[in-house]
Amino acid sequence: MTEQCAFCGNKHLTPKTTRYLHQHDEQLLIVEGVPCLECDFCGEQYFEIDVLKRIEADHREIAEHRREPARYVSVAVEAFDSVR
Ligand SMILES: [Zn+2]
Repeated sequence: MTEQCAFCGNKHLTPKTTRYLHQHDEQLLIVEGVPCLECDFCGEQYFEIDVLKRIEADHREIAEHRREPARYVSVAVEAFDSVR
């Protein structure tokens, strides 16, 4: 795991859990409570490769209808051009 922030160079990274948005083709999966290290200075988040692989595998199973997710949400989509 990263010992210092690759983005800003800060050495203080705090273990946290966060919401992770994974994209697979046009499909999105929101995963809650994902462990990460977050930079105290700039907020950049770092994930263990194993964590990302598990999310990717889970999303593949859902996309191929081999597994049901915990729940579905509806998501609003906007183009920035039309944002007031
Ligand atoms: Zn940083």
